[in-house]
Amino acid sequence: MTVQIEDDPRIPPPDHHRDVTGGWLRPAVFGVTDGLVSNASLVIGVAASGASTHAVILAGVSGLAAGAFSMATGEYVSVASQQELTLAEIEVEKLELARVPKAEEAELAQVYVQRGVEPALAREVAKQLSANPEEAWRVHVREELGVDPDDLPSPWTAAGSSFVSFTLGALVPLLPYLLGASTLAATVVLTIIALFAAGVGVSRFTSRTWWYSGTRQLLLGGAAAAVTYAIGNAVGA
Ligand SMILES: [Zn+2]
Repeated sequence: MTVQIEDDPRIPPPDHHRDVTGGWLRPAVFGVTDGLVSNASLVIGVAASGASTHAVILAGVSGLAAGAFSMATGEYVSVASQQELTLAEIEVEKLELARVPKAEEAELAQVYVQRGVEPALAREVAKQLSANPEEAWRVHVREELGVDPDDLPSPWTAAGSSFVSFTLGALVPLLPYLLGASTLAATVVLTIIALFAAGVGVSRFTSRTWWYSGTRQLLLGGAAAAVTYAIGNAVGA
């Protein structure tokens, strides 16, 4: 009797893991939270000083633009330099494979032995994986650098995702003023709801429950806004 692997309920589907490698969703959620906390604090601080609605909008729009560009360039430089380092290391690995293929094959066998594979079998696996040079360097890169060379994170995706998500988060506290509000009330209510929702979004990447994560984000973001509120109040317009 043959067992159909795809139908076996004991074998989880290949996509049952949470995304631990990064991708766009994680920076997006953190970008929204960043934009929300920083611009809510800015708008609330300026409004608390008694500044005009016009000044609050000007500060909020400036804070949005400054933060979005700063986040995007920071993310671009961070991911691009990581990528350059990875590509350089891949070249080193390819050179080594061309220069000392037998030593590299033995190195690969050693990796499998360390994971508990019998030495003879490990050597055989390493030998077969080393037969095709295009496959061999990919295996070495995965085993030694811990990255998938065919799925490296893109600096442009990371930068774009940060820019858009920061902008979305930063728009929340600003929205009531853009729609004609003249007091802080609507901004405060919207910010509280959005902070909690952002915390719930973050819980997707942690082992925390949604309500713990939501409450924590609400308290931390609320504390930041309380500080700027006090500063705005003390300084005055
Ligand atoms: Zn190697």
